[in-house]
Amino acid sequence: MKKISIVIPAYNEEGNVALIHQKIKEVFSELQNYDFEIIFVNDGSRDQTQQVLEDLSNKFSEVKFIEFSRNFGHQPAVKAGIDSALGNAVISMDGDLQHPPELIPKMIQKWEEGYDVVLTVRKYPKEISFFKRKTSDFFYKILSGLSDVNLTKGGGSDFRLMDANVVEVMRKFNEDDLFLRGLTSWMGFKQTALDFTASERVSGESSYNLKKMITFAFTGITAFSVKPLYIAAYLGFLFSGFSVIGYAAYVIHSFVTKTEISGWASLIMTIVFFGGLQLIILGIIGIYLGKIFKQVKARPNYIIKNKNF
Ligand code: UDP
Ligand code: MG
Repeated sequence: MKKISIVIPAYNEEGNVALIHQKIKEVFSELQNYDFEIIFVNDGSRDQTQQVLEDLSNKFSEVKFIEFSRNFGHQPAVKAGIDSALGNAVISMDGDLQHPPELIPKMIQKWEEGYDVVLTVRKYPKEISFFKRKTSDFFYKILSGLSDVNLTKGGGSDFRLMDANVVEVMRKFNEDDLFLRGLTSWMGFKQTALDFTASERVSGESSYNLKKMITFAFTGITAFSVKPLYIAAYLGFLFSGFSVIGYAAYVIHSFVTKTEISGWASLIMTIVFFGGLQLIILGIIGIYLGKIFKQVKARPNYIIKNKNF
C-alpha cells in the first residue's frame, strides 16, 4: 500500500489541529488504497498546541509531531516535516484549514498520472481584503521579474504534493534562506497545477503581517537571483552616460554664450539624489553580503526539541 505523508506546520493552532486531522481522516477513509501519516510541526507555539498534539498522537497512530525548541518560521517548519516524512508522496499544507483537504484526492490522482510535483494555485475568494489581494499580486509580479525562477502568479501557495524522489532531492538542500516555493519550481521535474479557493482561517490569527510579507518578498528575490546587483550596475552606467552628455552640453554652452550656468539648488538636489541612490545600491550589496555571512556560519534551519517518531 502506498503511503502519503501530510506535513502541517503549526504555530498557535490549538483550535485547528484536531479539526484538520479529522478532515484528513475523512478524506482518506474514502481513499482505500492509501495509507497516510500526518506530521505536525509545532513551530514554538505559545498556546496549547503541543498539548493538543500529544493527546491526538496518543489516540491516533497516524498522528506524529515534531516540536521545535523555539519559533523558527513557516518555511523551516515545512522543511522539518519534509525531512522526516516517510511516504511515497509528501503533501504540505497549512494548519488553519485555508488549504482544503478535499483537494487531496485530486492531487493524488495527478501524482498517479505521473506528475512528480502537484502545485496548487490559489484563487481569491471575495472575503479576502483588497489590500492583501493587491500586495500578493504585486509581490508575484516583482518576484517573477526580478527572479530567475519562473513563479506563476498565485502559484505560490505552500499547498503542494511532491513525489518521494523530489523530496529526496529537497532534503539535500542546505540553504539558510529557505524559499520552498521557489526551490520546487527551480528543481524542475514533471509539474502540474490545480486550482483551489482559500477560505478564511478557522480559528486563531494569521501571523503574516505586512512587515513579514515584505521580508518574505526580499527573500524570494535575493535567494534566487542576483538581478538586483545587475540593475545597480546598469543604473551606474546609465547615470555616468547622462553625466558625460550633460557635461559636454555645459562646456559647449559656456563657449558659445560665454556665460556660466548658475543654479546651486539643482546641484544640491542632484547630490542628494545620487547620495540616496548610492545608499540603496550599498544596501542591496549588503543584503547579499549578509546572506553570505549567514550561509557561511551554516547554522541549522531549525532545532528539534522533541519528536514522537
Ligand atoms: N506558521 C508556522 N510558523 C510561523 C508562522 C506560521 O509554522 O512562524 C504556520 C501556521 O500555523 C499555518 C501556516 O504556517 O499553518 C500559515 O500561516 P498563516 O495562516 O499565519 O499565514 P497566511 O495563511 O495568513 O498566509
Ligand atoms: Mg493561514
